[in-house]
Amino acid sequence: METVALPTASSSAPLALRPLSRAGRPVSLFDLTLEELESRLLAQGEPAFRARQLWHGIYGDLCDGYDAVTTLPLPLRTALADDLPFGTLATVREVATDDGETVKTLYRTFDGQFVETVLMLYPDRATVCVSCQVGCAVGCAFCATGLGGLTRNLTTGEMVEQVVGAARRAAALGRPLTNLVMMGMGEPLHNYAATMKLVGILNDRRGLGFGARRITISTSGVVPRIDALADEPYQVNLAVSLHAPTDDLRTRLVPLNSRYPIAELMAACDRYVAKTGRRISFEYALMAGINDGDDVAQDLGELLRGRLCHVNVIPLNPVDVLPYERPDPAGIERFAGIVRAADIPTTVRYSRGVAIAAACGQLRAEQSAAS
Ligand code: SAH
Ligand code: SF4
Repeated sequence: METVALPTASSSAPLALRPLSRAGRPVSLFDLTLEELESRLLAQGEPAFRARQLWHGIYGDLCDGYDAVTTLPLPLRTALADDLPFGTLATVREVATDDGETVKTLYRTFDGQFVETVLMLYPDRATVCVSCQVGCAVGCAFCATGLGGLTRNLTTGEMVEQVVGAARRAAALGRPLTNLVMMGMGEPLHNYAATMKLVGILNDRRGLGFGARRITISTSGVVPRIDALADEPYQVNLAVSLHAPTDDLRTRLVPLNSRYPIAELMAACDRYVAKTGRRISFEYALMAGINDGDDVAQDLGELLRGRLCHVNVIPLNPVDVLPYERPDPAGIERFAGIVRAADIPTTVRYSRGVAIAAACGQLRAEQSAAS
């Protein structure tokens, strides 16, 4: 394991002096669509093409501050630095696995919260795992993020900044960022509007041009928002964190299940598939002696039989203060084999970076305990 101290976010005026959004949060460059940036610059008497130059600088050239956007005249760069923070996240620490293929970044927000982002490099793709909330209200039994409840939603800008940071980090390693998963801290469908704006900004061809099909939104099962997502113009992928095939067990693991039980969740998934024609991934964090029995695997196969889906069995990333453990490799394969026998495409996915606490919310939990 390697720990690297990095400089904090580049900006000139203190954030406390900047204009605040209605929610009392600083609006950064990364909060704005290109149209919003154009209107802002037009209102300051600048031509609209300046917005496109800036947009190209941040999303095309991946500039790390206004100073690096040399297509803009210096006085404009100075004015922007005073008026619109380039970003609001400060890097606290960055941890990489020995092989360098998983890099986890811990950020501090303007209001002293901690947020984490993971970049995972594979031979054929580079994926960023983005956080959408500080904490989470769902409180799943095995998840480090849910332990302290929800502190607040992240803004679109705070999420876009995580993606751009990962794109820069990947570019420094000679790799383009190709995929995004909303599988960091928080429940994206509880921060729906900001998440959709994120997708719009990333998808814009004049910027990153991040294909919606390369974006996966993972949810613990917020039924009305699954329906809303099916109506969105973006062809994003949907992952549903199922973790159990029956209500008793699922309610113990994912408390939101008491509000949206499995029958309602499955009906929403069926509506989603009927409307979009897109396959759903069901995530299944496998825990020894909890949800890994042969009978449970059979129930899961029965539940999903005939549905357009794929199951990802994820051996649990154990969390220090929680009593759950992953089964042994033979038990994991046995479980996956039973589900597969019901004709459900099933993959065992070991989550990256166990050695660097890359399970959702773990690095932040360590930081909070230390400070
Ligand atoms: N809140 C959303 C997205 C973030 S969590 C959701 O729950 O889907 C991303 C994934 O990590 C979810 O499938 C979640 O259940 C899983 N997860 C959380 N803690 C984990 C752990 N300790 N080990 C393995 N998977 C975990
Ligand atoms: Fe929240 Fe997802 Fe963690 Fe559950 S698994 S507590 S929904 S972040």
